Amino acid sequence: MDNILILGNGVAGLTAGDTLRRLGYTGAITIVGDEKHATYSRPALSKAALAPGPEMELNFLPEATHGGTELLGRSATTVDPEARRVTLDDGTVLDYEGLVIATGTHARRFTDSEREYTLRSLDDATALRERLSSAPKVAIIGGGPLGMEVASGAIGLGCEVTLIHPGTPMEPHIGPQLAGILTEVALENGLDIVDDFVAAVAETPGGMCVRLSSGQEITADVVVSAAGDIPNDSWLADSGLLIDGRLIADERCRVRPEIVAAGDVVWQQGARGLRRTPIWTAAIEQAKTAAAALLQGDEAAPLSYHSYFWTDQWGMNLKVSGPIPDGSEEPLVVKGSLAERSAVLHWPGQGCAASLNMRMPIPRLHKLAASVPAEV
Ligand SMILES: Cc1cc2nc3c(=O)[nH]c(=O)nc-3n(C[C@H](O)[C@H](O)[C@H](O)COP(=O)(O)OP(=O)(O)OC[C@H]3O[C@@H](n4cnc5c(N)ncnc54)[C@H](O)[C@@H]3O)c2cc1C
Repeated sequence: MDNILILGNGVAGLTAGDTLRRLGYTGAITIVGDEKHATYSRPALSKAALAPGPEMELNFLPEATHGGTELLGRSATTVDPEARRVTLDDGTVLDYEGLVIATGTHARRFTDSEREYTLRSLDDATALRERLSSAPKVAIIGGGPLGMEVASGAIGLGCEVTLIHPGTPMEPHIGPQLAGILTEVALENGLDIVDDFVAAVAETPGGMCVRLSSGQEITADVVVSAAGDIPNDSWLADSGLLIDGRLIADERCRVRPEIVAAGDVVWQQGARGLRRTPIWTAAIEQAKTAAAALLQGDEAAPLSYHSYFWTDQWGMNLKVSGPIPDGSEEPLVVKGSLAERSAVLHWPGQGCAASLNMRMPIPRLHKLAASVPAEV
């Protein structure tokens, strides 16, 4: 193989390029990304970028080492897998021998209103931060990690914030015990949490109105939608690569022998069925596996990684290794104290460990998650 094309210059695309070189590939690499910026840390957009202070903190990733040709500000519009050819929005046609699809996702929206903000890209973060700095009244739709981090940032910037979420925020992402603690801290920081589903969102003269399934209406100057993401795969619609509308890859991240996929865009079969895993570490590990599979085929190792997630909000840092604890088991407090909200926790029956506001190297957290109590 002598000509590899990478679509998407997020962390998955960048990692795929660097991994190809690390594995000894010396042929051409071309990377196409529809954002004009060099690759940056997307997780930082809802954390450092919204932190109080006069300037927005930017977090670019270390420069790529693959030495490939970068075509930024352009997007792939079609792929012809039989001809092994991709067309870009400016009409450029690129042939490939190997293709990496790493085009990520975009945020789900409720309206076309410019008073509805989403947070997926650096440009989104710049616009959102600028708007929040005039301390508007904000309604956030969605209480996942993104919604809660934006709520924390917005309150830090002086906004009055209502967050709409059915149930306890973040519970599906970190389990009931940890979600309970973060929700408590959020309430203490002045977050108004409304437990309901959103029925409709509309502009009003001068603001926005969110109508809930109970009939209650919440008015705000701006809405921030943090209610899920949609894979950037519509450009693949006529390619024959989608199955039931999904880009599905095998355990080596292969869609076909010469086409691999990595990051938020891709679906894979796992213990919990066919799923996407839209988290940072998954994108990196999938990209490494995908690059190896392109060069080594069946000889490449299948995808294997420790599930790992982190969040920063309300001045607290949480790291979680392993599957999400489901609430059926009380965690062992290995270090610190839950009352002080600074602890290392272990759910031995579920293979999960977490550090809340406590410094702990990630490999040690993984080791704790996989251990039985006698080993701790
Ligand atoms: C605000 C925010 C906070 C997050 N926080 C966390 C966190 O704390 N922890 C965590 O684990 N994960 C977090 N995530 C998720 C994590 O950032 C993603 O899982 C990761 O960035 C996915 O990388 P990717 O390379 O697959 O996709 P992306 O980073 O989305 O990169 C894909 C790139 O491809 C481009 N593209 C799209 N279509 C085309 C096309 N047709 N042609 C060319 N280019 C195209 C996109 O514009 C984009 O630049 C967060 C995400 C967001 C948005």
